[in-house]
Amino acid sequence: MFGLTDIATLGSTVTAWALVALRVAVALVALGACAAISRYPDSVPVSIRATCCVLVVGLGAFPVLCWYQPDAMAWNLMSFALILMAVYVIFPNRFIYAAAIGVGASMGFGIMLLIQGSLRTDDLVALVLMLILGNALGTIAARRFHLAQREQFRSTILLQEVADRDPLTGCHNRRVLQGGLLDAELARAHRYGSALSVILCDIDHFKRINDTHGHAVGDQVLVEFAGLLRSMARAAVDSVIRYGGEEFLIVLPQTELAGAHALADRIREAFANASTSAGGGSFVSATASFGVASVPAQHPHPPATFEALISAADEQLYAVKRDGRNGVRGAIVTATGQLRSCA
Ligand code: GH3
Ligand code: MG
Ligand code: MG
Repeated sequence: MFGLTDIATLGSTVTAWALVALRVAVALVALGACAAISRYPDSVPVSIRATCCVLVVGLGAFPVLCWYQPDAMAWNLMSFALILMAVYVIFPNRFIYAAAIGVGASMGFGIMLLIQGSLRTDDLVALVLMLILGNALGTIAARRFHLAQREQFRSTILLQEVADRDPLTGCHNRRVLQGGLLDAELARAHRYGSALSVILCDIDHFKRINDTHGHAVGDQVLVEFAGLLRSMARAAVDSVIRYGGEEFLIVLPQTELAGAHALADRIREAFANASTSAGGGSFVSATASFGVASVPAQHPHPPATFEALISAADEQLYAVKRDGRNGVRGAIVTATGQLRSCA
């Protein structure tokens, strides 16, 4: 559109068309950047950095152009105010930098026009007002933009938390497995030759607790069992996942079968000795059964999928159930699915 003003001012001359061509080139670069960003979203930070650099160079070069165009003062002032606003909006999350660049460039621009000495009094008033307006509107736009961005970031994190957590126990739910948690641990164990274990646990005769004491007491037993699992697992290293109704999965990176087996046994003993208030002064106790499956360190043929690891732990769990419950069984898992069990 500025190209139209070039032709209107200069007529259909070579210079005017050269200016139009340059303006079209700028627009094409901008459109190309838009296309690149939508095609390769990872390139957004690079584009933002490039845009910031172009803006700073533009702010530095523009007063030089203005120096040689004292007659186009009104246009130039308006263009300068627009560039200023762009600086405030585009500098990502760095209001202090945007403000320093905006105010510094405004002062430089004003001083340059004063030195040039071609300003009348009303031009001077317009200059001061326009620069104040450019910086003030830029500040407001930047603040609103950054607040909206932060709010959106917070909401995304919250939504993710809500989607990945079981509301009753606060443990992760199975979505984190679909999201690749165990796949990633298995890949890490493969790559670094480290051990990896999982414990699948299931509360024994849980239906009876519900039937005898009611669902609310059943829920309380679940909450306390989950709390016990979380307190005995390593913070920020192990993951406790509510796998089903009264079934939980613990993922133990860099843990051999013996360590996982010992942990499962400690949890089993602690849970068997704990009790939950059922109201009216009575208490409920329960036991749980545990199946452990492990990939040993430096194993040449670790299982290829996390489903193989969980199904091996499930087999061990059901063996404990068959043996009378309240116990732990574990097995080494290989790629061929063969198990070496230990009770
Ligand atoms: P086993 O020792 O063989 O595991 O027997 P069980 O009774 O524990 O297993 P079963 O699969 O027969 O019953 C599980 C029960 O868990 C049935 C279901 O109603 C209950 N349950 C599942 N989710 C919840 C929950 O969120 N709260 C409560 N209170 N009960 C639940
Ligand atoms: Mg059960
Ligand atoms: Mg069950």
